[in-house]
Amino acid sequence: MSELEEKIAQAREIIDCASNIVVLTGAGISAESGVPTFRGQEGLWQNYRPEELATPDAFWKDPKLVWEWYDWRRNAVKDAKPNPGHYALAELETQGKNLTLVTQNIDGLHQMAGSSNITEMHGNLWQIRCTKCGEIEQNFEVPLRQLPPKCKKCGDLGRPNVVWFGEMIEMALIDTILKAIEECQVMLIIGTSGVVEPAASMGLVAKQTNKTVIEVNLDETPSAGLYDIVIREKSGEILPLLFSSNNNRTLSS
Ligand code: NAD
Ligand code: ZN
Repeated sequence: MSELEEKIAQAREIIDCASNIVVLTGAGISAESGVPTFRGQEGLWQNYRPEELATPDAFWKDPKLVWEWYDWRRNAVKDAKPNPGHYALAELETQGKNLTLVTQNIDGLHQMAGSSNITEMHGNLWQIRCTKCGEIEQNFEVPLRQLPPKCKKCGDLGRPNVVWFGEMIEMALIDTILKAIEECQVMLIIGTSGVVEPAASMGLVAKQTNKTVIEVNLDETPSAGLYDIVIREKSGEILPLLFSSNNNRTLSS
């Protein structure tokens, strides 16, 4: 058995025995669906880094520019389909385990794959929130007809309903996630660079409370040394091998 096959077998067994699992996903799980990650070269748009645009300051300085970037991101996601990683997680949900799926992604691909119990930590790309009255509109227009878009209710400026750098995630949401980590036996961390808080610390919280942590990520991450099993492969190839109803699948190398 190769080292990778051994890790997969170990991870499968751990997941199989667990009744309570928390999964945290990041942009990497959608990379094989063609959605650019932030850290990769393709995350750049017109030479801006995401950190320069995904902020309240950038938005209030130039709402049109920030919306043009979101329009580009919506366009990059509009034809994307879930990949085997998303589908494997949706299937895990049907296996009678208590599964909490937390995602930093805003692309909606977990929903499209059939997962139903999803905590979207950073919001959703297909929602526009009014900066004045807070009204949230589901909007799938690509490209957007009006840039920046206006609120359908009060006519004021709309913003993407996402959490930007420097903004707070609702405390109640964090509490729910921490509680789920506290109650789980196993935490899976998939396709997240581990540098954006508070998601970055969630694996540490799991370790501090003696949970088994399994990471699937293509590249090195800052906290990998603390985790129990670390698989440096594509999530779309590995996740279908980790869950028991996919017994018949094998590594194609
Ligand atoms: P990130 O871009 O910082 O990191 C992505 C990680 O995924 C990297 O460590 C990379 O090595 C890994 N990766 C790339 N391809 C992979 C694959 N096929 N299989 C496994 N791992 C792979 O993303 P992040 O950690 O999620 O955090 C940054 C922020 O980016 C979040 O706030 C998120 O909302 C936002 N974001 C979301 C999307 C999306 O919704 N799809 C896309 C880009 C950024
Ligand atoms: Zn409004």
